Amino acid sequence: MAPTEVSIVKTLVLGGGVVGVTTAYFLAKAGHEVTVIEEKDGVGLEASSGNAGIIAPGHAFAWASPAAPRMLWESLRGGETAIRVRLGSDPRLYAWGARFLRECAPGRSRRNTLVKLRLCQYSQAVLGEVVRAEGIEYHAIEKGALYLHRDPAGLEAGVKKMALLAEHGQRQEILSGAELARLDPVFAPVAHKIAGAVRDLGDSSGDSRLFVESLARRCQDMGTVVRLGVRVAALQASGDRVDAVLTSHGVLTADSYVLALGVGSPAVARTAGVGLPIYPAKGYSSTFPLRANGLAPTIPGVDERWLVGWSRLGDRLRLTSTAEFVGYDWGWTPRDFGNIRSLARDLFPDAADYDRGQYRACLRPMTPDGPPILGLGRHRNLFLNCGHGHLGWTMACGTARIVADLMTGRMPELDLDGLTLRR
Ligand SMILES: Cc1cc2nc3c(=O)[nH]c(=O)nc-3n(C[C@H](O)[C@H](O)[C@H](O)COP(=O)(O)OP(=O)(O)OC[C@H]3O[C@@H](n4cnc5c(N)ncnc54)[C@H](O)[C@@H]3O)c2cc1C
Repeated sequence: MAPTEVSIVKTLVLGGGVVGVTTAYFLAKAGHEVTVIEEKDGVGLEASSGNAGIIAPGHAFAWASPAAPRMLWESLRGGETAIRVRLGSDPRLYAWGARFLRECAPGRSRRNTLVKLRLCQYSQAVLGEVVRAEGIEYHAIEKGALYLHRDPAGLEAGVKKMALLAEHGQRQEILSGAELARLDPVFAPVAHKIAGAVRDLGDSSGDSRLFVESLARRCQDMGTVVRLGVRVAALQASGDRVDAVLTSHGVLTADSYVLALGVGSPAVARTAGVGLPIYPAKGYSSTFPLRANGLAPTIPGVDERWLVGWSRLGDRLRLTSTAEFVGYDWGWTPRDFGNIRSLARDLFPDAADYDRGQYRACLRPMTPDGPPILGLGRHRNLFLNCGHGHLGWTMACGTARIVADLMTGRMPELDLDGLTLRR
């Protein structure tokens, strides 16, 4: 009798961010021969290294909400709003924007929020499994996250809004300024400036870049090849199959391909005739070394008035803010960090050495409705794992597991309703 042939599937994972590397991990575990292609000289150096670090099912609200159109209108009139838009000549922004506005209807917004929430909850559980299995250290803090309000009306509205997530499994508590100060001493000197907070007890935080670097090393131990400094230019497809990837280092072929290029995904997908509704939402990110005996936050959070998120990543403080629809623009000026600096001075004046900050802008890969795009498009061997928006660190492990399950013939544990390209 002839010995049974075991055929090893060769897979190219395009993109070495948190989404690409977690997908490579699950595929390598399933026995695929995986190569990760990344244009930077390290993994996790784009959005995955600039985010606020919050693993936040408690922040799963869809950005396309009944409040968004007014916010966008005010932004166009020059207002300081949470979501900002600068209209230019890019027709893709208009097409994306039209779909975004359609998703702002109350019913759609609620549905999209719940699709995101379910995925965030699943992903957080998968992250826990990966961390336990691989012993990964990523400066994890598991104390929930604070959604902070400056005035009673804001707090009341915040509590009302968060009830939807509580009804669907998020444990929450409402804290006054004084209770907040007892929970985290950093708020003691400033409790009078805070009306209160909703604490989502299920949220957590950690350094996604550190996580990606460690996980990439585990992948390499399993035989995964990580090719850095290689830019993906195009996909070569015939019929319903992708045959090859054209890169800055030549033509690469495999049995299957995963598209996980973050904001780079739509341009590459277009070369194979696949349209992905993903547009960049720019955010500003700053990182400061903690002061030796300073009073620094121990629980991550978001100031809901100033819309600045914070978390403690080891001996550093990360502060991020802003969502601007200005195309593929990674530029920044010191002025863009004005609200971050104001918040730091106002709430955490003693926490970090603010003269030694690292500043950058990075782009969130946003879909109009909010959830990412997973699974097949029009090619049988091209799997999509992109469009994770403002919660890609939170969703990465879950979406990686789902896509790897689809690729290895396993039934995903989560229903894909609302998560595929045709939704
Ligand atoms: C300011 C800010 C704050 C955020 N805060 C949070 C938060 O608190 N919690 C949370 O869950 N999420 C947060 N996010 C979102 C999260 O960071 C992203 O959703 C996530 O990093 C997306 O991961 P990714 O792997 O898809 O993209 P990326 O990390 O951008 O990775 C894509 C990779 O593909 C590479 N690439 C792109 N094009 C090409 C090409 N043509 N050829 C080769 N390589 C290419 C890039 O170099 C990059 O390394 C935040 C984002 C921002 C910007």
